[in-house]
Amino acid sequence: MPKHSPRQLDPRAPLVLDTRDLPRRPGALRELRRVVTAPADLGVELIGVPEGADLDLDLRLQSVSEGVLVSGTVTGPVRGECGRCLREIDDSVAVNVQELYAYEDSTTDETTDEDEVGRMQGDLIDLEPAVRDAVVLALPTNPLCRQDCPGLCPDCGVHWDDLPADHSHQQIDPRWAGLSQLTRTEE
Ligand SMILES: [Zn+2]
Ligand SMILES: [Zn+2]
Repeated sequence: MPKHSPRQLDPRAPLVLDTRDLPRRPGALRELRRVVTAPADLGVELIGVPEGADLDLDLRLQSVSEGVLVSGTVTGPVRGECGRCLREIDDSVAVNVQELYAYEDSTTDETTDEDEVGRMQGDLIDLEPAVRDAVVLALPTNPLCRQDCPGLCPDCGVHWDDLPADHSHQQIDPRWAGLSQLTRTEE
Protein backbone atom coordinates (compact mmCIF):
# COMPACT_ATOMS: atom_id res chain seq x y z
CA MET A 1 0.00 0.00 0.00
CA PRO A 2 1.61 3.27 -1.05
CA LYS A 3 2.08 5.70 1.82
CA HIS A 4 1.15 8.74 -0.20
CA SER A 5 -2.31 9.41 -1.45
CA PRO A 6 -3.05 10.57 -4.95
CA ARG A 7 -5.93 12.75 -3.74
CA GLN A 8 -5.42 16.44 -3.13
CA LEU A 9 -4.39 16.96 0.47
CA ASP A 10 -6.49 19.23 2.66
CA PRO A 11 -4.16 21.49 4.66
CA ARG A 12 -6.78 21.69 7.40
CA ALA A 13 -7.02 17.89 7.82
CA PRO A 14 -5.86 16.93 11.32
CA LEU A 15 -2.95 14.79 10.19
CA VAL A 16 -1.77 16.86 7.26
CA LEU A 17 1.39 18.72 8.21
CA ASP A 18 2.35 21.99 6.61
CA THR A 19 6.12 22.37 6.25
CA ARG A 20 6.06 25.90 4.83
CA ASP A 21 8.08 27.31 7.73
CA LEU A 22 10.70 24.56 7.53
CA PRO A 23 13.67 25.72 5.44
CA ARG A 24 14.55 23.24 2.69
CA ARG A 25 18.09 23.07 3.91
CA PRO A 26 19.34 19.69 5.17
CA GLY A 27 19.51 19.78 8.95
CA ALA A 28 16.83 22.43 9.43
CA LEU A 29 14.51 21.38 12.21
CA ARG A 30 11.04 22.26 13.48
CA GLU A 31 9.27 20.93 16.52
CA LEU A 32 5.58 20.36 16.14
CA ARG A 33 3.43 19.90 19.23
CA ARG A 34 -0.24 19.94 18.57
CA VAL A 35 -3.49 18.34 19.66
CA VAL A 36 -5.68 17.27 16.75
CA THR A 37 -8.90 15.35 16.40
CA ALA A 38 -8.60 11.69 15.49
CA PRO A 39 -9.80 10.71 12.02
CA ALA A 40 -12.23 7.83 11.52
CA ASP A 41 -11.10 4.20 11.38
CA LEU A 42 -8.00 4.64 13.52
CA GLY A 43 -7.94 1.13 14.83
CA VAL A 44 -9.18 -2.40 14.30
CA GLU A 45 -12.57 -4.01 14.66
CA LEU A 46 -12.67 -4.47 18.42
CA ILE A 47 -10.53 -1.56 19.56
CA GLY A 48 -9.37 1.80 18.32
CA VAL A 49 -9.07 5.54 18.84
CA PRO A 50 -12.60 6.98 18.80
CA GLU A 51 -13.20 9.37 15.92
CA GLY A 52 -12.91 12.95 17.14
CA ALA A 53 -10.84 12.08 20.23
CA ASP A 54 -7.78 14.15 21.07
CA LEU A 55 -4.58 12.96 19.44
CA ASP A 56 -1.40 14.40 20.89
CA LEU A 57 1.28 14.99 18.30
CA ASP A 58 4.83 15.47 19.52
CA LEU A 59 6.86 15.54 16.33
CA ARG A 60 10.13 16.71 14.85
CA LEU A 61 10.27 17.73 11.22
CA GLN A 62 13.75 17.63 9.82
CA SER A 63 14.89 18.66 6.36
CA VAL A 64 17.03 16.05 4.66
CA SER A 65 18.52 16.20 1.19
CA GLU A 66 15.49 14.84 -0.67
CA GLY A 67 12.63 15.59 1.64
CA VAL A 68 11.43 15.82 5.20
CA LEU A 69 11.93 13.26 7.93
CA VAL A 70 9.06 13.20 10.41
CA SER A 71 9.67 11.50 13.72
CA GLY A 72 8.11 11.54 17.16
CA THR A 73 5.18 10.18 19.08
CA VAL A 74 1.44 10.22 18.67
CA THR A 75 -0.66 9.53 21.75
CA GLY A 76 -4.38 9.05 22.04
CA PRO A 77 -7.13 7.29 23.95
CA VAL A 78 -8.42 3.92 22.81
CA ARG A 79 -11.78 2.39 23.44
CA GLY A 80 -12.80 -1.12 22.72
CA GLU A 81 -14.43 -4.27 23.84
CA CYS A 82 -12.93 -7.21 25.70
CA GLY A 83 -12.75 -10.19 23.34
CA ARG A 84 -13.73 -12.57 26.16
CA CYS A 85 -16.39 -10.76 28.20
CA LEU A 86 -17.39 -7.79 25.98
CA ARG A 87 -16.75 -5.33 28.81
CA GLU A 88 -15.66 -1.88 27.70
CA ILE A 89 -11.95 -1.22 27.56
CA ASP A 90 -10.64 2.29 28.23
CA ASP A 91 -6.97 2.62 27.53
CA SER A 92 -4.50 4.76 25.69
CA VAL A 93 -1.96 4.16 22.99
CA ALA A 94 1.35 5.87 22.25
CA VAL A 95 3.14 5.11 19.01
CA ASN A 96 6.42 6.18 17.51
CA VAL A 97 6.44 7.32 13.94
CA GLN A 98 9.46 7.81 11.75
CA GLU A 99 8.78 8.44 8.11
CA LEU A 100 10.60 10.07 5.26
CA TYR A 101 8.55 12.16 2.86
CA ALA A 102 10.20 13.04 -0.41
CA TYR A 103 9.79 16.41 -2.11
CA GLU A 104 7.49 16.23 -5.10
CA ASP A 105 10.32 16.99 -7.49
CA SER A 106 13.00 14.89 -5.81
CA THR A 107 14.64 12.03 -7.66
CA THR A 108 13.94 9.64 -4.80
CA ASP A 109 11.71 7.55 -7.05
CA GLU A 110 14.68 6.48 -9.09
CA THR A 111 16.67 5.37 -6.09
CA THR A 112 14.15 3.84 -3.71
CA ASP A 113 11.17 1.58 -3.80
CA GLU A 114 8.04 3.69 -4.32
CA ASP A 115 6.24 2.05 -1.41
CA GLU A 116 8.93 2.86 1.12
CA VAL A 117 8.83 6.61 0.87
CA GLY A 118 5.85 8.91 1.11
CA ARG A 119 5.64 11.87 -1.17
CA MET A 120 4.85 15.46 -0.27
CA GLN A 121 2.30 17.54 -2.07
CA GLY A 122 3.95 20.91 -2.26
CA ASP A 123 4.66 21.75 1.37
CA LEU A 124 2.12 19.29 2.69
CA ILE A 125 2.70 15.89 4.26
CA ASP A 126 -0.06 13.37 4.79
CA LEU A 127 0.88 11.74 8.06
CA GLU A 128 -2.41 9.88 8.41
CA PRO A 129 -1.42 6.58 6.72
CA ALA A 130 1.74 6.32 8.84
CA VAL A 131 -0.15 7.08 12.05
CA ARG A 132 -2.86 4.60 11.12
CA ASP A 133 -0.31 1.84 10.41
CA ALA A 134 1.50 2.50 13.68
CA VAL A 135 -1.68 2.59 15.76
CA VAL A 136 -3.08 -0.57 14.19
CA LEU A 137 0.22 -2.37 14.82
CA ALA A 138 0.28 -1.22 18.45
CA LEU A 139 -3.25 -2.38 19.23
CA PRO A 140 -3.89 -5.92 20.43
CA THR A 141 -5.62 -8.15 17.87
CA ASN A 142 -7.46 -9.80 20.74
CA PRO A 143 -8.08 -7.02 23.28
CA LEU A 144 -8.79 -8.03 26.87
CA CYS A 145 -10.17 -6.01 29.78
CA ARG A 146 -7.37 -7.58 31.79
CA GLN A 147 -4.81 -10.24 30.94
CA ASP A 148 -6.47 -12.95 33.05
CA CYS A 149 -10.07 -12.12 32.15
CA PRO A 150 -11.89 -15.44 32.64
CA GLY A 151 -14.67 -14.50 30.20
CA LEU A 152 -18.28 -15.56 30.40
CA CYS A 153 -19.91 -18.82 31.39
CA PRO A 154 -20.84 -20.32 28.02
CA ASP A 155 -24.16 -21.57 29.38
CA CYS A 156 -25.63 -18.55 31.13
CA GLY A 157 -23.45 -15.72 29.75
CA VAL A 158 -22.62 -14.35 33.22
CA HIS A 159 -19.07 -13.13 33.87
CA TRP A 160 -17.11 -15.72 35.81
CA ASP A 161 -16.09 -12.91 38.21
CA ASP A 162 -19.72 -12.56 39.24
CA LEU A 163 -20.35 -16.27 39.73
CA PRO A 164 -19.51 -18.43 42.73
CA ALA A 165 -16.44 -20.62 42.38
CA ASP A 166 -18.53 -23.80 42.20
CA HIS A 167 -20.87 -22.43 39.53
CA SER A 168 -21.91 -25.08 37.04
CA HIS A 169 -24.92 -26.15 35.04
CA GLN A 170 -26.24 -29.67 35.49
CA GLN A 171 -25.97 -30.96 32.01
CA ILE A 172 -26.40 -34.30 30.47
CA ASP A 173 -24.32 -34.98 27.40
CA PRO A 174 -26.87 -35.20 24.56
CA ARG A 175 -25.56 -38.66 23.62
CA TRP A 176 -26.26 -39.97 27.14
CA ALA A 177 -29.59 -38.15 27.16
CA GLY A 178 -30.62 -40.27 24.19
CA LEU A 179 -29.47 -43.41 25.96
CA SER A 180 -31.36 -42.61 29.14
CA GLN A 181 -34.51 -42.16 27.08
CA LEU A 182 -33.92 -45.59 25.53
CA THR A 183 -33.53 -47.12 28.97
CA ARG A 184 -36.73 -45.46 30.05
CA THR A 185 -38.74 -46.88 27.16
CA GLU A 186 -37.40 -50.32 27.91
CA GLU A 187 -38.62 -50.19 31.48
ZN1 LIG B 1 -12.93 -9.26 29.89
ZN1 LIG C 1 -23.41 -20.34 33.94
